[in-house]
Amino acid sequence: MRSPGESDHGYKYTRFGNPTRDVLEERLADLSGAERAVASASGTAAMAAICLSVVEPGDHVVAFDGIYGGTRLLFDDLLVDSLGATVEYVDATDIDAVAEAVTNETTLVWMESPTNPLLRLCDLSVVANVAATVDATYVVDNTFATPYFQRPLEHGADIVVHSTTKYLNGHSDSMGGVVLTDDEAVADGVAHTQSYDIGGTLAPFDCYLTLRGLRTFPLRMGRHETNAGELARYLDDHPSVAQVNYPGLDHHPQHDLAREQMDGFGGIVSFELDATGAETRAVLEEFDVFTLAVSLGGTESLVDHPATMSASYLTDAEREAAGISDSLVRIAVGVEHADDLLADLDQALEKL
Ligand SMILES: *Cc1c(COP(=O)(O)O)cnc(C)c1O
Repeated sequence: MRSPGESDHGYKYTRFGNPTRDVLEERLADLSGAERAVASASGTAAMAAICLSVVEPGDHVVAFDGIYGGTRLLFDDLLVDSLGATVEYVDATDIDAVAEAVTNETTLVWMESPTNPLLRLCDLSVVANVAATVDATYVVDNTFATPYFQRPLEHGADIVVHSTTKYLNGHSDSMGGVVLTDDEAVADGVAHTQSYDIGGTLAPFDCYLTLRGLRTFPLRMGRHETNAGELARYLDDHPSVAQVNYPGLDHHPQHDLAREQMDGFGGIVSFELDATGAETRAVLEEFDVFTLAVSLGGTESLVDHPATMSASYLTDAEREAAGISDSLVRIAVGVEHADDLLADLDQALEKL
């Protein structure tokens, strides 16, 4: 018989430790080339745990102005309103802007590459050098690229965060997040905040679903990318399309950087129609194979109108400053047969 206070397997209570979660964390760490992984109840829970374990009241934070909208809301509520920190947003496609924003007070530098929905990149290694000059913790949100196409720890990031809700689980049936790092103290700090302060650890069933999704991860990512490349080239030649944003296209302003720091260009494409906002919304009503929805990273193709959907939390002025027009469309390209996706795009665009 066990005595009180003794454990026969090391697992006392699932919020603190669970064998299925341990397997998932080990696998995600392996995939990312990280020493440690901490799984969270969502990407947002993972980001909150990082913020709470790294940022002190009054700190200075530098962030890419193209980061995920939910990250901006989290920074506003948690860092600015609750902790009295200052967050400075910069156009990180320009490394001089990052270098100018970083000061001796900067404790956190937060990047995301490529960004949503305009697919802008930042030079991960050069930002690492800038963050290192002031000893700031350097975080990269790698949700869009995934470890299949990009491993920011190899480019000097201290912490990488993903929403596993997207490509890593890949089936739109689970929410989760993960924090990856080589630094034991950082991992312990995030795990502690996660377990004891937020209570945002990932439920075992979601760990199981994500492990199951990971079995086809490389197959899915390869197909997302070949489909996205094909659709991007099709759109690039379409007379009703004014501009296509996809890092895999030669004319993307950071195509060379994408080739250097990524092993592929991912599954998200956005494009500007030569149309009014009303005409654009009418086109979006025409899709049959693509589903009109936000989110991304599942096997099914989704189409999104950022101005009224994924970026609707922004004011008109903020949207304009961010370069998100009423005629911008984002597609999260799935793993269906490319011909079905091309035919669907073709018939929807014919409505113009
Ligand atoms: C979805 C997303 C998040 C937030 O993840 P949740 O799992 O929805 O909390 C963070 N960053 C990026 C880039 C995302 O796409």
